[in-house]
Amino acid sequence: MDKKELINCGKVKSVYNSSDDDKVIIEFRDDITAGDGARKEVMTNKGAYNAIISTKIFKVLEENGIETQFVDLPEPNVMIAKKLEMIPIEVIVRNIATGSLVRKYPIADGTRLEPPVVEMDYKDDEYHDPMLNFSLIQALGIATQEEVDILIEKALKINEILRKFFADAGIVLVDFKIEFGKDKDGNIILGDEISPDGCRLWDSETLEMMDKELFRKGKDDEVMDAYIEVYNRIIPDEEKVI
Ligand code: 5GP
Repeated sequence: MDKKELINCGKVKSVYNSSDDDKVIIEFRDDITAGDGARKEVMTNKGAYNAIISTKIFKVLEENGIETQFVDLPEPNVMIAKKLEMIPIEVIVRNIATGSLVRKYPIADGTRLEPPVVEMDYKDDEYHDPMLNFSLIQALGIATQEEVDILIEKALKINEILRKFFADAGIVLVDFKIEFGKDKDGNIILGDEISPDGCRLWDSETLEMMDKELFRKGKDDEVMDAYIEVYNRIIPDEEKVI
């Protein structure tokens, strides 16, 4: 499948139209950013590791009844995906309190959150992804109440599936961000990616970070080793393509 025109150049991924009107080609680049794009570096093969990790996670979710955008991974950093109209909401699920939650609210870092906290942010770097509630979602004309209910229900189900999946690999799924879109029939489908860029992942034994938080904290030289460790733990040898 050939790339046609670029339809969206994000901070770490480029999305192209393809010869099939219902599919897009997503190139995972080697860029890594923090602070709404304020800091940016390039890390060799980061795009491929994220694309392969995302592919694995999307396949696990599909096996567990969650429809995703994933179609194929023809090259290590190139994904073919269903074309979706993305909903500009970042759905965040938290199992352990940390990050912006403990900066904004009186909850101690490391507190287990049971039931998990679901948060929705407006995806817009210019406004620094402000937190939403349903009233604001309505005012912005982003989604209906019924659609918001579907986002929350799917996010919690995804959390249950992935918590177990990562636990089996000796990794704690602390929190993560996901995004959804609508297909041409209006179905809400999981899109974007699920990778160490948008998840907090801690080693179950040592609680060491294995995700982009290392970059956010300036530990740039530890980032790729952490991503490769996640890759090695969750991708079986026969599925390793790099
Ligand atoms: P926090 O709100 O604590 O900074 O982030 C919560 C979780 O959502 C973390 O796993 C973080 O990686 C993810 N997250 C929140 N906003 C973004 C975003 O704009 N981009 C990415 N890649 N991840 C995000």
